[in-house]
Amino acid sequence: MQRLSAVKGMNDILPDDSWRWEWLEGRVRALMRRHAYENIRTPIVEPTALFVRGLGEVTDIVEKEMYSFEDRLNGEALTLRPENTAGVVRAVVEHSLTYGGGKRLYYFGPMFRHERPQRGRYRQFHQIGAEAFGYAGAELDAELILMAQALWSELGLTDVELQINSLGQPAERLQHRAALISYFEQHIEALDEEAKQRLHKNPLRLLDSKNPQMQSVIENAPKLIDYLSAESMAHFERVQGILRANKVPFRINPRLVRGLDYYNLTVFEFVTTRLGAQGTICAGGRYDYLTEQIGGKPTPAVGWAMGMERVLELLKESDAFVSRPSLDAYAVVTDAAHWGVAMQCLQALRALGVSVQMHAGADGAIGSLKSQIKRADASGARFALIFGGDEVARGEVSVKSLRDGEGQQKTCLMSDTMSLATTLRNQSDQHV
Ligand code: ATP
Ligand code: MG
Repeated sequence: MQRLSAVKGMNDILPDDSWRWEWLEGRVRALMRRHAYENIRTPIVEPTALFVRGLGEVTDIVEKEMYSFEDRLNGEALTLRPENTAGVVRAVVEHSLTYGGGKRLYYFGPMFRHERPQRGRYRQFHQIGAEAFGYAGAELDAELILMAQALWSELGLTDVELQINSLGQPAERLQHRAALISYFEQHIEALDEEAKQRLHKNPLRLLDSKNPQMQSVIENAPKLIDYLSAESMAHFERVQGILRANKVPFRINPRLVRGLDYYNLTVFEFVTTRLGAQGTICAGGRYDYLTEQIGGKPTPAVGWAMGMERVLELLKESDAFVSRPSLDAYAVVTDAAHWGVAMQCLQALRALGVSVQMHAGADGAIGSLKSQIKRADASGARFALIFGGDEVARGEVSVKSLRDGEGQQKTCLMSDTMSLATTLRNQSDQHV
């Protein structure tokens, strides 16, 4: 039979890597708890209309990156979520989560975009996202930025640059839009085909273009910041003030417009130069009008999403990164008849937080003690627990050190699980 493989651009995350994912997830969960963000889990499939309405029709995602299909049974138009802000907003509206106040939420999970696979860019990738609903103040924008910044510090990621910009309010964008269109019309010969097509539909997106031939014309285009009202500027300045007060360095990037339609006022990205072209590890902004767009009551909101693959890639090179959690013990028996007693002891140890692998012979037989100890060594465990005939008869177990002080062996009472657990547990393991 022909072997099947995973879909292009969609990766298996194998044990040699998945422990890093679990580690990062643990760190993020703790970070969210400390900032009072609660977890939300929404479906991976949503109605296509949610993304078309939410993200905007003239966006890369909606135009060409969505995995959309028709439900074979009822003909419904469905899409694998390409991002999760729209889904979270839908859930917030559907369940009236902001009733009586604001709501701070976070999520983890896979997203799907039909892009050209390359380093840091996949068709199934994973995001961690945080969204805060019901607060219009600039301090919320700052809180989200500070929260991401706290994560970089905790992870030991140093060369990450914060870029910020303000997109103002819809009316201000409209004026800027008119100015952009007339500017680009005057430079029509410098535009590529895609840009020409988008010029009248969504000219702001031209500023996002990565085409090197268009960079100089983009550089001189009218800047949105010059069209902002006093109120919008005040909001932007308040965000900056809080960042400065918290000693978070940033750069204002007037070309930062973000790929999605739903943003207003503050937008930001955390960018590193260490991942080649795929350098944005976290991106977000305010989206005060999305909730209405999706059929809810007007609700101010702000959020970000970070790409887990990209963060993990950075972490791999970082010195601060923790080592893989090790196995405490590997249990072997000299006679399969001892497993009944031995497994009682293992379960008691596990209940006390000790990690123990039980030896399992490939062919159902246990094999010689020597070959079992070899397996114990290969497992990476720090100790072998040996349930031999004499020991078991006395209610004891031998503890053999496989790493520090290799070969040292002592016997312990099986019934004294507390002291046995203390011997075996790795105090320095900070695996969450
Ligand atoms: P890019 O400009 O790299 O295409 P984007 O603006 O499309 O990014 P967002 O929609 O803002 O990305 O998603 C937030 C984050 O999710 C990105 O900053 C990135 O870290 C990550 N991300 C987005 N698309 C992918 C992908 N195809 N593969 C891996 N990570 C991704
Ligand atoms: Mg993209």
